[in-house]
Amino acid sequence: MSAPAPSLRKSPMPSAVFVESVDPSTGEGVARFEAVQVSTIPGVFSRAREAQSSWAARSLPERCELLRRFQAELFDRREEVAEVICRETGKPRAEAIFAEIMFSLDTASFLVRNSRRFLKPQRVPHHNWALKSKRGRLYYEPLGVVALITPWNYPFAIPVGQVLPALAAGNAVLLKPSELTPWTGALVAELAERAGAPSGLVQVLQGGGEVTAAIIDARPDKVFFTGSVETGRKVAEACARNLIPSVLELGGKDAMIVLADANIDKASSAAIWGGFTNCGQACLSVERVYVEEAVAERFISLCVEKTKNLRVGSNADSEIDIGPMIRNKEIERVEAQLLDATSHGAKILIGGCRMPEKGPNFFAPTIITSVDHTMRLMREETFGPVVAIQTVAGADEAVRLANDSEFGLSASVWTRNAKRGREIASRLRVGSVMVNDVASYYSITEAPHGGCGASGWGRVHSRLGLLEMTNVKYIDEELLPHFAKPWWYGYRDGVAQAADRFTEMLFAPDRKRRWKALASDPRSLRPLIKKSGASKSPQTGTGSK
Ligand code: NAD
Repeated sequence: MSAPAPSLRKSPMPSAVFVESVDPSTGEGVARFEAVQVSTIPGVFSRAREAQSSWAARSLPERCELLRRFQAELFDRREEVAEVICRETGKPRAEAIFAEIMFSLDTASFLVRNSRRFLKPQRVPHHNWALKSKRGRLYYEPLGVVALITPWNYPFAIPVGQVLPALAAGNAVLLKPSELTPWTGALVAELAERAGAPSGLVQVLQGGGEVTAAIIDARPDKVFFTGSVETGRKVAEACARNLIPSVLELGGKDAMIVLADANIDKASSAAIWGGFTNCGQACLSVERVYVEEAVAERFISLCVEKTKNLRVGSNADSEIDIGPMIRNKEIERVEAQLLDATSHGAKILIGGCRMPEKGPNFFAPTIITSVDHTMRLMREETFGPVVAIQTVAGADEAVRLANDSEFGLSASVWTRNAKRGREIASRLRVGSVMVNDVASYYSITEAPHGGCGASGWGRVHSRLGLLEMTNVKYIDEELLPHFAKPWWYGYRDGVAQAADRFTEMLFAPDRKRRWKALASDPRSLRPLIKKSGASKSPQTGTGSK
């Protein structure tokens, strides 16, 4: 490890509060940071606002240059960043590289290449003949100071996937990382600073829920929250009280539908990877599998066989597939759901227990069958290494069950028939569906990520995620400024009759009537054309509502 762990042995100041990360494989402390004192948050905002106003004045190529340098810094320090991620989360190194480092590098590339195109002002053509004398454009302007509240499970990719678009769009960022992964959060700001971010532009505020609450009370211009439904609800309420817009990326209960014509070998490999990657602690984890009767037995036995071969252990060993869960509390939730399921008839085919010989937070990857929707396991987010498999009579039943959830993040459909895959995907009430793969769309920088229902609202990543970081302003220009508007004051002189005839010309349901209105005496439309000052009535444009 090239970087020393921050201030683990430092003796605490009497009034200071600390957040301390722990290696979940061993329970040993990793790093300690002083939590931000809530009383200092107004000063943090002043610095952010000051930095933002000059940042927004810079050209887009200059802003993108910072992203390019961030990418270069990250590329050079990727081993160190991967190691910090691994120590704070316990995830295998391969997963830190695939899902966190590669994704973050690619996000920078994507934004450097596309921000200009996505943020350039956009013509808004007017179709209405009554308003043809105007020209409209959309402008994508910075919001100001955005607050990012992020979780521990992808402690680098999630903040970077939001910090970089925020900066490209001209905002300043306040990042509050999870109190379980403060070092990884601190590295995001450190990389931005090394890349040349002006002081105050990207600030990390360490701490827990009380810091989130204080940040929202200080009224950032938008809040991007990623985390659990329970916390998301509190954040949404606090934002609503302050009338602050929010994006909420919350939990999931992703369904995988395996049809009888699917490639069962590939589908079973995807099910166990999708269920166990990051030890099942991914919002996009495969938590529910609905498999058609005809192939269920084979699919289940392949899942069990493949799970037997997985290596569980500490990431100090580079040969492991699955690391520990993050904390004991999370294991207790998984155990409670499994107990509820088995007491109602579910069968654990493999796993289902802790592995204390490996360390404090290890839980064996688990395949469970004979489940149904009366069980908590099929309704609540599990967020652990558990794949629950339910056999179904056919695709319709699978779709009905997949949609029988308060969550709506993502899903997958497995079939050799592409058309059928698309048709089933269109019936699922979620933010995204993969046909013949699971979860990997998250790494496609062009693909938007976000859900519906209890999985939240708004989008991150892609063009849509970049636009979430902007205030969309519409500017309209009048091309005939010397003419008073027909709808301005001066309602005498047959204006109402002329307006009615014009309405008839535009909207009469049959073409004959529209032509008739157009062809009849053109002089009757004259009251609509009023040169400024030509009317006998005052031509004021105010008070129209
Ligand atoms: P969490 O809700 O406990 O914490 C998320 C963030 O909120 C952290 O920064 C935390 O410090 C802060 N927080 C905690 N309690 C708070 C409170 N009372 N008030 C204000 N802020 C508070 O979530 P977590 O355990 O860090 O992450 C796991 C959850 O996140 C899972 O539900 C998972 O599905 C979800 N998640 C969703 C996505 C997505 O993109 N939809 C991605 C990753 C994780």
